[in-house]
Amino acid sequence: MGCQKNKTLLQGFSWYLPSDGLHWERVARRAQELRDMGITAVWLPPAYKGAAGAQDVGYGVYDLYDLGEFDQKGSIPTKYGTREAFLKCVEELHAHDLKVLVDVVLNQRMGADECEWVPAVAVAREDRNRVVSGTQTIEAWSKFTFPGRAGSYSDFIWDWKCFHGVDYNAANGDNSIFLFEGKHWDNNVTHEFGNFDYLMGCDVDLLYPPVYDELVRWGIWFAELTKADGFRLDAVKHMERSFYIRWLNDVQAAVGRELYAVGEYWESSLGSLEGYLGPERVMSLFDVFLHFKLHDVSVSNGNMDLSTIFDGTLVQADPLNAVTFVDNHDTQAGQALQSYVEDWFKPAAYALILLNEAGYPCVFYGDLYGTDRVDAVPELARLIRIRELLAYGSQQNWSDSPDVIGFTREGVDEWESSGCAVVVSDRAQGRKRMCVGPRHCNETWVCVVGNHPNVQTDGEGWADFDVSGGGLSVYVSESGSSVLRKYE
Ligand code: CA
Repeated sequence: MGCQKNKTLLQGFSWYLPSDGLHWERVARRAQELRDMGITAVWLPPAYKGAAGAQDVGYGVYDLYDLGEFDQKGSIPTKYGTREAFLKCVEELHAHDLKVLVDVVLNQRMGADECEWVPAVAVAREDRNRVVSGTQTIEAWSKFTFPGRAGSYSDFIWDWKCFHGVDYNAANGDNSIFLFEGKHWDNNVTHEFGNFDYLMGCDVDLLYPPVYDELVRWGIWFAELTKADGFRLDAVKHMERSFYIRWLNDVQAAVGRELYAVGEYWESSLGSLEGYLGPERVMSLFDVFLHFKLHDVSVSNGNMDLSTIFDGTLVQADPLNAVTFVDNHDTQAGQALQSYVEDWFKPAAYALILLNEAGYPCVFYGDLYGTDRVDAVPELARLIRIRELLAYGSQQNWSDSPDVIGFTREGVDEWESSGCAVVVSDRAQGRKRMCVGPRHCNETWVCVVGNHPNVQTDGEGWADFDVSGGGLSVYVSESGSSVLRKYE
């Protein structure tokens, strides 16, 4: 147990990066630094052309085959750079032993090249199963011919038959949600709004055989070209559940290697996440409920019960398939899903996911480096390094108070001087009596995050660990702190 190096994923972008076409180079330049810090994998943003061209964060997908190579949507490069720079970035990360996860957005398309006349019915926004108009012929932006790419890599033309519907009739400006004739929303999606298959743009009919086959062809092309180690799958709660079970299987079989996948299922109910994972467990999911709980603590003035912080979370129910995170590009200030964990609680929130034995933690680029609307978390680099070097061995939790909780890792032989003690407060200062395990008896332990005096463990490994009000303390053994210093 515990001899493998701890894995830490970095979300390698935030929403408000400058649209300078230089991000692939920026990430590539940081490869060495990330590896030294203890990061083991990087999730890169969508690499293909979006409807907003060089301004598109990547989720308004226009052309999956245009990785910044063709003059489309007003630009050759994407927001992040050219195809050449993208492939170089992946290569550079790989050269530094970092795994690469690429962002895959297959639910919707935007920025069609041509309009089509399509028979459709309008449905109610709040109940997509309720038809509210007779059949009418709408003018839909639903034909994608990619004239700038002119058939390179794929000559597949998307027309309205490839989609379930749109939310705009160009003939009269009606922005109802329209379901195309002969189509139905996929059944195995989240039941918000009756059926939340439709999210935005042209909603892709994933199971329409020509579309399915094209998406598998693209997946194989993309995986082989980039040599990526896996995928981050966008908006899976709006996509027929059976799709990714088949797609991941077909793409992996064709490329002959395993591809790790983590899906974004943006819902906090554990039942929904577990229902989506099902018995097949073909992917992991982000632990959205844990994110909301961390956010709630940060805005509750100490009134949340910290001892229940992991109750009902995916990481508690299914630690092997949970990717834990504090914030991401959607939750940061200014975004639609805004639920940003307040600054004072950020270091503690990160300690709770990074130093924990359960879950695969994902660090947000904005928290690590800061962006124009997000401050960097000063303790973060050190916490990642503690995870890499010292957060090993059995974990014991002291979740016996609503305001001050703690846990210890007792260390393992394979990692020199490993073991740590963590105390978190969301109200007053406190002191926690905890045991750091039999390999750390009669030692001096140093507070490496939190600025408290050293403590002595007794003959059985017990000591009293201090934490400031609303603070975080991390203690490691004296020899553990020398191991840390070697890398800082
Ligand atoms: Ca959909």
